[in-house]
Amino acid sequence: MNRAERLAWLRETDPRRLEALWAEADDVRRRHVGDAVHLRGLIEFSNRCGRGCLYCGLRRGRAGLARYRMALGEIVACARTAGELGMGTVVLQSGEDPSMPAAWLADVIAAVKTETRGAVTLSVGERPAEDYALWRRAGADRYLLRFETSNRDLYARLHPDAADGLDGRLAALHALRDLGYEVGSGVMVGLPGQTFDDLADDLALFEQLGLHMVGIGPYIAHPASPLAALPAAAGAVSGTELMASKMVALTRLVLPDANIPATTALATIDPAAGRVHGLERGANVIMPNVTPAARKALYEIYPSKAGVTVDAADAVADVRRSLDALGRTVGVGRGDSPAMARRRLSPPVTEEVSP
Ligand code: SF4
Repeated sequence: MNRAERLAWLRETDPRRLEALWAEADDVRRRHVGDAVHLRGLIEFSNRCGRGCLYCGLRRGRAGLARYRMALGEIVACARTAGELGMGTVVLQSGEDPSMPAAWLADVIAAVKTETRGAVTLSVGERPAEDYALWRRAGADRYLLRFETSNRDLYARLHPDAADGLDGRLAALHALRDLGYEVGSGVMVGLPGQTFDDLADDLALFEQLGLHMVGIGPYIAHPASPLAALPAAAGAVSGTELMASKMVALTRLVLPDANIPATTALATIDPAAGRVHGLERGANVIMPNVTPAARKALYEIYPSKAGVTVDAADAVADVRRSLDALGRTVGVGRGDSPAMARRRLSPPVTEEVSP
C-alpha cells in the first residue's frame, strides 16, 4: 500500500468502506501472528518523572500528586501475580526518572526473571546507553519507547526538555536494537496540530525502524497538564477511537508480524468497544494491569484510565471472556515477536522522515 492509499484510508469516514480496511487488517493479523492474544502483566512501579511532557499527568512539578517507587519485593509480588494469571511477560513501566539507580532496576529485573522465568519488557524512558546495556545483561528482553509523533516540530513543542528532540529518541531506539532488545515504539493520534500527513509519516517511520512492537492510542490530555486547555484536535486529525483504530489497522498492514496491543487508551476513550475493535482491526496483545490498586490510582498519565479500579484477576477473567466471544485464544508462553525471529531491524534512519 503506497502513501496515497494510506492517506486515503486515514481520511475515510464511511463505515461501509472502512469495513474493507478492518477485514484486510484482521486477515493479515490472522495469517502472520495467528489467533492467539498475548497477555502482558503491566507493573507501574514508579510515577516519579523528571520530564515535562505537555500532555502528561505525571510530568515533573505537577502539584498535589503523591509520588512513589515500589520496593523490589512489591514488584516481584506483582510479577508473581502476573505469572499465576497465565501471563508470560511482565512490563516494568515508570516515568523517566534520572534519580532511579540503574543498578537497582537491574536487581529488579534479575529478581523478576528468577520469579517468573518469563520475558521482561522495560518502559522507563530515555537513559544512557550503558543503562540499557546493564539491564539487557540483567535479563531484560524488550524495551518500549514511543516517539509519539514523527513531526519534529510537534515533538519539540510537546517535549520541551528533550534536548535532542526526535533525533534523541530515534538514537535511543537504535541503541536498544543494537543491544538485541525487541524494540517497541508508537504514537498518539489526535495531538493538537497533528495532520493526516503526520500520521502517514508515522507509519513510514514504523516501517523504516522495522519495529517489533507498536502501541497506538488516542491523544488524551490530563486536565492538570498545559495542553488540557487546548481542544483535543486543533489540527485536521481527531483523537477518536475511530482514528486510532485506523492507525492500528494500517500499522498491521505496514508491519504484518509486529506485536500490536489493543491499548488501555483505546479502552479508555471507548469503554464499550475500544478493546474489541482494536483486536478486530489488527491488534494481538493486551496488557492487563497487575499494579496494586493504591499505586495505579497514582499512575495517572491521563484521567479515567480504563481498569484502574479493577482487580487484576477480574481483569484477566474479563479479557478471557472477550477473547472467547471473538473466537480468539490466550497466547501461551512469552509471546516473543515473530518479527524478531524472522528478520533483523532495518539500518538506522539517516534521512528526514517527511516527504
Ligand atoms: S509521558 Fe512519560 S516522560 Fe513524559 S512526563 Fe509523562 S511519564 Fe514523564
